[in-house]
Amino acid sequence: MSSIHEYINQLRIIDGHEHLATPQIRKRENHDFFSLMHYLDSDLVTSGMKRGALDRRNGSEEERAAIFLKYWERTSNTTYARMFRTAMQDLYGFNDWSVAGVLDVNEKVKAATHNPDWYNHVLYEKSGIDLAFTLIQTTKLEYDLFRPIMFMDFTFKLRNRKDIHDVERAAGVNVHTFAGYLEAVDALLHRFKSEGMVATKLGHAYWRSLGCTKPTYQEAESVFNKLLTRTLEDGYSQAQTEDLQDYLIHYVIQRSIAYDLPIQIHTGHHETSVSSNGNLIPNSNATLLLPLLAEYQDAKFVLLHCSFPYHETYLSIAKNYPNVYADFTWMYIISPTAAKQILHQMIEMVPQSKIQGFGGDYNYIEGTYAHLKLARGIIADTLSEKIAEGAMKESDAMRFADKIFRDNLIDIYQLDLKKL
Ligand SMILES: [Zn+2]
Repeated sequence: MSSIHEYINQLRIIDGHEHLATPQIRKRENHDFFSLMHYLDSDLVTSGMKRGALDRRNGSEEERAAIFLKYWERTSNTTYARMFRTAMQDLYGFNDWSVAGVLDVNEKVKAATHNPDWYNHVLYEKSGIDLAFTLIQTTKLEYDLFRPIMFMDFTFKLRNRKDIHDVERAAGVNVHTFAGYLEAVDALLHRFKSEGMVATKLGHAYWRSLGCTKPTYQEAESVFNKLLTRTLEDGYSQAQTEDLQDYLIHYVIQRSIAYDLPIQIHTGHHETSVSSNGNLIPNSNATLLLPLLAEYQDAKFVLLHCSFPYHETYLSIAKNYPNVYADFTWMYIISPTAAKQILHQMIEMVPQSKIQGFGGDYNYIEGTYAHLKLARGIIADTLSEKIAEGAMKESDAMRFADKIFRDNLIDIYQLDLKKL
């Protein structure tokens, strides 16, 4: 093992993006083996499994173990499957891919769920994570290693009065005018920030285009007022509400700037277990964000997932815009080969202060462990190649790793590590 591999393996990590349940939620929901599918579920479904086939209500543990193994066999080549295998092997000593084996490890996963030391063991000790941002739509995380990020989509995904009602409920106010609605959204952002939120998240690439026009206040207000006159569920189409949505996207960006919050935006690949293939991939191309990136020079836009498979233009954007930060969340498990290629090009093109190296993007900690192990290997391999090419000195490669795994996140999200 080279010294760069050894160096990267011992680095302590700030993890910029996860969907991890708190230990309390995991315990309350009694997570088991079948609760740990997440990304793998997408590949199982794409290989032919019925959506939801592994849900508790759809059969005994034995029946679901048999279904799992049938589709596991079809998809065991993918990186999502590889991550599952790594997690199960390293953390549970699991190697027996039979019904009996699955039932046995299922009991071990349930025991881990109720083990009060499991999160610290997996995240802090085994993974080397000092802090992880998690998006589970609450700021009440009650776990020292977590900081919240909140999806703001619900504040601009307005198509009927029920959607407005949800924002009223979250903000604890009743809204009768568009101006009142904007105040409610602002109050929410302010509250989330005071409750520890380190960034806002826009996930709209999953349900509409990232492209955004510049409607006037009056145009947005007129759609809003029409929604107020409808019944709860009976609303307007996406096309009819776009002026309102676009106006609100601008507003959320403006208020995030005011509260000095970086803005994480989903770009690129969609997860079928989340999207049910309900949006079109070209809608998530980071290129569509260019008018917003050009307008808000004082924002900190963290563009997630390298916009894969639109990563070539993404690299140009990250190179040129001082307000854009490149982010490798999720990327290594989508394709390790592509991640390595993108990292090679990014080292060649993008200032190292603008790169965020890791976000596991998992909803269970065992996945985060496996993903980070993979990421450390890919980054070390890439840097070794750069050193061998003569493009970097070893000491510079080590500083690069410090920055993308840790220092850049402390800077961008203004983290106070003394509190750890
Ligand atoms: Zn995510």
